Amino acid sequence: MFALLMLIAGTATSSLAIYTWIQGRKPSVRTFALLLAAISLWLICISGWSLSSTVDLAMRWFWLQFLGVAMVPVLLLSYVLHFTGRGSALTPSRRLALWVIPLLTQAFAWTNGLHHLMFREIHFSSRDGILVLSSWVAGPWFLLYSTYSFGIIAVALLLMARAVIGSPNIFRRQLLALLIAIIPAIILTLLNTFQLLSANLWLTPMAFVLTGAVIVWAIVRHQMIAVVPVARDLLIEQMDDAMLVIDERERVVDLNMAMESLLGRGRGDLLSQSLYSALFHVPDLLDSARLPDATPAEIELSSGSRVRHYEVTARTLRHNSAPVGRLLVLRDITRTKLAQAELFTLATTDSLTGLYNRRQFFQLASQQVEIATRSRRPLSLLLFDIDHFKQVNDCYGHEAGDRVLVEVASRAQRVVRSQDIICRYGGEEFVILLVDTGGADGGQVAERLRDLVAGTPIDIGGDHVAATISVGVATSVPDALMTLDDLLRLADGAMYRAKQAGRNRVAYAERVVGGGQAAEA
Ligand code: GH3
Ligand code: MG
Ligand code: MG
Repeated sequence: MFALLMLIAGTATSSLAIYTWIQGRKPSVRTFALLLAAISLWLICISGWSLSSTVDLAMRWFWLQFLGVAMVPVLLLSYVLHFTGRGSALTPSRRLALWVIPLLTQAFAWTNGLHHLMFREIHFSSRDGILVLSSWVAGPWFLLYSTYSFGIIAVALLLMARAVIGSPNIFRRQLLALLIAIIPAIILTLLNTFQLLSANLWLTPMAFVLTGAVIVWAIVRHQMIAVVPVARDLLIEQMDDAMLVIDERERVVDLNMAMESLLGRGRGDLLSQSLYSALFHVPDLLDSARLPDATPAEIELSSGSRVRHYEVTARTLRHNSAPVGRLLVLRDITRTKLAQAELFTLATTDSLTGLYNRRQFFQLASQQVEIATRSRRPLSLLLFDIDHFKQVNDCYGHEAGDRVLVEVASRAQRVVRSQDIICRYGGEEFVILLVDTGGADGGQVAERLRDLVAGTPIDIGGDHVAATISVGVATSVPDALMTLDDLLRLADGAMYRAKQAGRNRVAYAERVVGGGQAAEA
């Protein structure tokens, strides 16, 4: 009955081992799967010898159990190290050192007949129809191996106990389940090994049935042992936000995949580096790592020709209210930024010509007028309208009219400088504010523009349209400063006169004298 129970527990544990192995590639998950596999082998061996028909067969199972038993302490320690974030302590040479005694134990177990280093005597007896290990005399290697194993287990348990005390609830429950699962088995094995428990040899295997049952329960009931490290990895590792943790001495102690690819450097390369050497090539990020808590900053990082925008938040990590380090989180806000830019463009420009719209023109032009007034610099304003534009629409259609508008706008952009402000003021009416430009220069620009439009007929897809414009020019000079409204009104008057005079020409508004009512020439 007990043998059967152990066989069931053993197979259940090995299925879990396979399930866990498939769950994740992380060392912590893989080590846990191996640990489960070792325990299941152990359980299966115990049921194996119990159900054996001969002592000879039972002995084979007995020796085979060491393949599982001897691996359990080292795997448990490795798992606890990985799980508590100390995985990097397992350097290849230390790993090898840990495995020396378990491997030698294998060798001595299978060759015990030659030297009796493991056991001097082993006795099986038949009880209720199954074989039971009734007594044995340990050899020197068995004592050494046992002491080593319990030493390793003690270290693992200490690390786990420390982790239980210092970890968030979700991990604490998982570690507690693991502790509950292994402690009875360990105590019983300990008593058994040193033959302090002579009365009932059933207890140790029963404790392992309990171990298997608790682990099964933990996984089924809480989705824990294997699932939580996986969930934690998924959460942190696969998060789009890049994360970096530094300790109080500004050394990198953790980071996720997003941060690795953002910095273009691997985890191994960055861990335990100083914050400066990790981030010196991204000075903006380095600065924001020292931001006060909860005051996000926006930074731009370029990789190749692509510029990405990030919101950086730095937060002080505390343990028992003492600061232990800082967490740096970079959220990619490029899409939001692009959407904002798109909205801004929509709100400030004319969709047909790409020039500023009227509202944006007033916003920018009034600033320039204010600056020019304060610094007593000249300004010229050009207002122009396409001549007989209705005819273009009438003869060639609205689409052709649109093409003419786009082409006139594009030619107008060619005559202005980057600091000038050009806008589609109305249907086929445009305004240009020329910064730092007096009347003579403004007039030249107007003439050049008129010439540029009239000079080459506009291609409207097959046909060509000879378009002309009429331009009104108004100028604000230091001894006769004008408001934006004055300039627009005067330029409009001048343009009206250009139309009256026969179109395809430039007309000038008379300068205002002494800032009073404007007069027109
Ligand atoms: P004038 O020389 O006196 O300026 O003559 P005009 O024909 O240009 O006169 P008016 O200003 O009255 O006509 C403007 C026309 O521009 C009327 C309108 O249908 C057309 N228009 C306004 N906005 C657009 C547009 O976005 N696309 C097109 N194709 N036509 C437009
Ligand atoms: Mg017109
Ligand atoms: Mg018009």
